[in-house]
Amino acid sequence: MLDDYKDNKFYNYFKNLKNYYHAYLFEVDNLELNLPFILAFSKMLICKNHYTNKEKCESCNICHLIDKNYYEDLKIIEPDGISIKKEQILNLQKELSLKSSNNTNQVYIIEYADKLNLSAANSLLKFIEEPMEGIIGILITTDIKQILPTIISRCSVFSLKSSKNLQYNNLEIQDMSKFLSLIITKKENSLPYLKKEYLNKYLTKKDILKTFNIMENIFDCLINQKFSISNDNLYFYDIIDESLKELLLNDLLFYLEKIIEFKNKLINVSNLNINLFMDRFIIEISRVML
Ligand SMILES: [Zn+2]
Repeated sequence: MLDDYKDNKFYNYFKNLKNYYHAYLFEVDNLELNLPFILAFSKMLICKNHYTNKEKCESCNICHLIDKNYYEDLKIIEPDGISIKKEQILNLQKELSLKSSNNTNQVYIIEYADKLNLSAANSLLKFIEEPMEGIIGILITTDIKQILPTIISRCSVFSLKSSKNLQYNNLEIQDMSKFLSLIITKKENSLPYLKKEYLNKYLTKKDILKTFNIMENIFDCLINQKFSISNDNLYFYDIIDESLKELLLNDLLFYLEKIIEFKNKLINVSNLNINLFMDRFIIEISRVML
């Protein structure tokens, strides 16, 4: 279950998730290593007792069947040979169109989604574009660049790639934490000032993406700290602005969700006007506490 993965950087985020997207895309370094966490998340989406009354479900019949890889409402697609073929996606859709006999959510996982051939990807896209209640898709890839941008834009994207790959220096973390603190505590809401003081080094889309990764890590660290969970990112904590540490868990989760939402937009939308995009981000995140 998800509680076995408290070290995962998205553990708290997923555990507290109230509304589900119809499609998730996980970017991973190694599929085998990350699959158990993703399966635990799937279990949470399917088993209704999973977190009821804060009691964790040890092994209801459904969880038991999922563990045995034998549960009919969890479908796993993997490449047939070198690719995932259109037929596999059409079969999947046919199976999912029959409603769950257990009245639970139905979850399908596509392993190595970068191996979808073009016609399979297009079939999947049509399916994701018209989501059906109670059907949740999880795509896993080791190479997000090989996924159709139109598919990415329909998914909520999470990178489980090791944070050891992240190269942030303390100054950047301090800067972004100050930037967030000024906006959130409303000590400063002049857009030109905020941008000039904190964002003038970040000019390209790639640079801005880096700031979003830093912000995501800041909130991730704050959330983990609330649960006293050890985590790769805890070294962040000491250099985060004090006023952010006073935020309540619900607010932290809300900000993290906003940051991920904007980050996904940044990844998915081409021809983005970066200037306008950052204005919108600053305005939206400062509006939250009104
Ligand atoms: Zn269960």
